[in-house]
Amino acid sequence: MNLLALLLAPLAAADTAPPRGIPTSTVCYEVFVRSFFDSDGDGIGDLNGLTQKLGYIEDLGARCIWLMPVAESPSYHGYDVTDYYRVEPDFGTNEDFKRFVGEAHRRGIRVLVDLVLNHISSEHPSFQAALRDSASPYRSWFLWSRTPGPKNQWGGDNWHRSPVRDEYYYGFFWRGMPDLNFETAAVREEAKRVARYWLEEMKVDGFRLDAIRHLFEDGAQTANVPATHTYLREFTSYLRGIAPNSFTIGEVWDSTPALLAYYPDQLDAYFAFEVSDAILDAVRLGSAAKLFPAVIRAQRDLPAGRWSPFLRNHDQTRTLTALRGDVAGARLAATLLLTFPGLPFVYYGEEIGMTGDKPDPRLRTPMQWSRAPGAGFTRGTPWERLQPDSLTATVEAAEADSTSLLHLHRRLIRLRAETPAVGAGELVPLETGHDAVAAYLRRVPGETRAVLVILNLGTAPVAGVTVTSGDRVLPAGRYTPRRLLGAVTSAAPLRVGPDGRIRGWVPLRTLAPRQGAVLELK
Ligand code: CA
Repeated sequence: MNLLALLLAPLAAADTAPPRGIPTSTVCYEVFVRSFFDSDGDGIGDLNGLTQKLGYIEDLGARCIWLMPVAESPSYHGYDVTDYYRVEPDFGTNEDFKRFVGEAHRRGIRVLVDLVLNHISSEHPSFQAALRDSASPYRSWFLWSRTPGPKNQWGGDNWHRSPVRDEYYYGFFWRGMPDLNFETAAVREEAKRVARYWLEEMKVDGFRLDAIRHLFEDGAQTANVPATHTYLREFTSYLRGIAPNSFTIGEVWDSTPALLAYYPDQLDAYFAFEVSDAILDAVRLGSAAKLFPAVIRAQRDLPAGRWSPFLRNHDQTRTLTALRGDVAGARLAATLLLTFPGLPFVYYGEEIGMTGDKPDPRLRTPMQWSRAPGAGFTRGTPWERLQPDSLTATVEAAEADSTSLLHLHRRLIRLRAETPAVGAGELVPLETGHDAVAAYLRRVPGETRAVLVILNLGTAPVAGVTVTSGDRVLPAGRYTPRRLLGAVTSAAPLRVGPDGRIRGWVPLRTLAPRQGAVLELK
């Protein structure tokens, strides 16, 4: 491809190609199998348990599930794989997995699995062979050094002393997870073979790719090196060859500008960490001042529908804990997430306001289904101690309370599915003159229906908030607001002049603290 074609590629893709992958009108639900539902009483969540709970995920409205690693692993978290072709025995068998996928597909739910390519378990036979036998063909699968190497940015070690001989091996995250050496052709080919197995044999719809900015190293540079981009292009084009409708989303835990190098021709999508942080910060601080720059940048610079906001994932303090138990804040955060552009991801338990803080196992505790012993998660002893609120923050309690966070999630996800402006529209930030009040439109160009989201993030009531915009945000005309969500008694009509500008509009007389509304403008 010449330079001109390269420069035009994102534009051309946006203009002509049908949207690939998963529509932004739905949401994906991130599940930790070990903690979701235990079907056999051993205290460990499993695939048959997950299959039994698919109705819950379907009712939530998610049409896609991301499973954290399900391949065989000696650790509870599964990010150190010992057999890429076998389901972790704690979770069941490969046949259980296939049944789960079949049942998910029957309900119109796609299945993405975590694919861990950067590193492997130190107990994997290939690493053990390489460690013990310096003539092993697997030696070149890993990175070795005579010296321990410099400390990493956190003052820890990336190079770990071999227990066998006087040498060190490279493992970016942990000594139990040696990095694979992607300079070795056999490693690159094996990664494709693993992906092919899960697509063709296990019938998954795609992958969440872990830690991909670390695939290649270049001296002291341990992330985002050019060879990583080259390989992601090769890997993705291979996947498209064998499974044209598969979907890939990558973890590049970095800023939106750093994400740009991963488009347009690598994975389908990446998580937008900056957008997520902006939502949480705005709610925590009660200020809309820094809410929009990250989402506007993502919307402007990244291909439409190919990035994903979320509130929290399995590596981060849960939303309600980050907000110090402020349920109204959690409602605002969910409202922002699920009315933002991009393909949103919801981490299991967030929808019922589960709590959890580091260390990591406490971010991944068993799902709280009911007040029953074991939180209805297991009839045995849960693999990990439940959270202190396991008797109150349950699915059972949330089902019974029409004002619960769970019902709010369901309403917002349905709204997203049924309202093109919310499901696929552009976000247009509006000026409110109040630091605490966030207001934005979602609109599809050419559509006469738009949606206004207006939220008071602050802890004091505000009255008479005036909304204004730049030129050409709506077609000229008179709009009657209709309540889609929120405690709204009456909303004032809006008149938009020929310049398409909103000026001096006071949609709602008052906004209660930590409350807001979603209105359709027609
Ligand atoms: Ca079990």
